[in-house]
Amino acid sequence: MKKKPARLLAIYRLLEWSDRDKCLLLSVLLWGYMGLVYLWHLFTVNFTEFATQFVSAEGAEVMGQVMLFNQAGWLVLIAWGALLRRIKRHSVYYPVVFMSFFSIGFLLLGWTVGLYSPMTGMVLVGSPLVGFVLFGFPRVAWNFAFSVLVVLLLAWLSVRGYSAHAIYFLTYPITQEVLSYYWIASTVAFMVPFITVVITLIALLLGRWVYREAQIRNQALHDPLTGLSNRRELFNRFGHELARARRGGQPLGVCLMDLDHFKRINDTHGHGVGDDVLVRVASVLRRCLRETDVIGRIGGEEFVLLLPETDASGADRVIERCRVGIERSPLTLENGEALPVSASFGVAIWHVADEADERELMARADAMLYRAKAQGRNRAEFWRAVPQATV
Ligand code: GH3
Ligand code: MG
Ligand code: MG
Repeated sequence: MKKKPARLLAIYRLLEWSDRDKCLLLSVLLWGYMGLVYLWHLFTVNFTEFATQFVSAEGAEVMGQVMLFNQAGWLVLIAWGALLRRIKRHSVYYPVVFMSFFSIGFLLLGWTVGLYSPMTGMVLVGSPLVGFVLFGFPRVAWNFAFSVLVVLLLAWLSVRGYSAHAIYFLTYPITQEVLSYYWIASTVAFMVPFITVVITLIALLLGRWVYREAQIRNQALHDPLTGLSNRRELFNRFGHELARARRGGQPLGVCLMDLDHFKRINDTHGHGVGDDVLVRVASVLRRCLRETDVIGRIGGEEFVLLLPETDASGADRVIERCRVGIERSPLTLENGEALPVSASFGVAIWHVADEADERELMARADAMLYRAKAQGRNRAEFWRAVPQATV
C-alpha cells in the first residue's frame, strides 16, 4: 500500500480540492462539452440531409439560443471561479449557482430535443452520482429533486399543449416509422464521454476509499515511530503463528527484548535521542530477521520477536545476531560521540505437545528477560522445559 504510484495519488487529490476548484474545472469541461454540442448543431443544420428531413426551422433557432445561453453561462461561471481563485476567496453561492446552472442548461437542451431521450436519463442518473462524489449528499439531493420537478413540469406542459415537445424536430427521428441512424449515433457520441467521466470519478472514489481503509488499517496495527507491529497486531499474529505451529508440528520461538538502561539514555540525552535509538534498533532487528518473522513493539522500549519454525539452536543464532547487531550500531550524537546501545533477551521455544498458550509463553519469556537483566544485561536467557534445579 505504501508503494501506491504517485500519479494515482495526484488524481485522488482532485477529490480533495475545494468546491470552488472542482466547480471551476467542471465548468471548463462543461463549457467545452456544450461547445461541441453547439458545433454539432451548426454542422447538422448547415450540412446534413438529416436537418432537411427532421429539424424544424423554429427548433434550429431555439437550439441556437439555448446553446448560446449555455456558452455564456459557463463562461460566466469560469470567470467567477477564476476570479475567486485569483483573490484566494471562496463563495458559498458559487457551487450552488454551478449546480443550478448545470441542471438548467441540460434540461433546456433536453427540452429542445425531447425530454424523454436517453440524454435526459443520462444526466438525471449521472449528475447526482458525480455530484455525490464531489459535493456531498444534501446539496445534490436538492438539486436532483429540483431537476425531477422541472422534468415533470415540462412534461405536463407538453402534454397539455402549453409547450412543444421536442421543438427541435419537425419529425421525431426515432419512431416506428422513421429511424435516423445519424441521430442515434450523435446521441451515443455525446453520451459516451459523459458516462466515461461519471464512471471514472466513481471508480476513483471507490479506489480512494479502499486506499484510505488500507492506510487506516495500517496505522491501527503499526507503531508510528518504528513502523513495527503494535501490541494489537503482534498478539493477532501471535495467535495465528501458534495455531500454525500446532497444525504443522513445528517449533515457534518467542522472544521478549528490552533495551538496557534506556531510561539513562533518555535522561542524559533527551527523548528525541531516545526515539532515534528506538528507530535504529527497529531497523537492526528488521535487517537481522527473516521476512516471515514477526517484530513488534509492545511498550516503550520493549520488543517481541516471533520466530516461526525456529528451535532453540536456531533462535540462539538469530538472537545472537540481533544482540551483536544492536551492540555494533551505536547512535552517533550531534557532538560526534557514539552512544552505545544494548539489549537483553528472554526466550521461550514452543514445541509440539507443549500445552502453553500465548500468555504462558510470554510469561516464560518475561521471566527469562528478568533473569538476563539480573545476570548483567546485553545477553539472552532461554527458558528450559525441565527446571534446571532438578537436573
Ligand atoms: P533496564 O536495563 O533495566 O531495562 O533499564 P531501563 O532504564 O531501560 O528500564 P526500563 O525498561 O524500565 O525503562 C523504560 C524507559 O523507557 C522509561 C522511559 O524513559 C523510556 N521510554 C518508554 N517509552 C519511550 C518512548 O516511546 N520514547 C522514548 N524516548 N523513551 C521511552
Ligand atoms: Mg529497559
Ligand atoms: Mg522496559
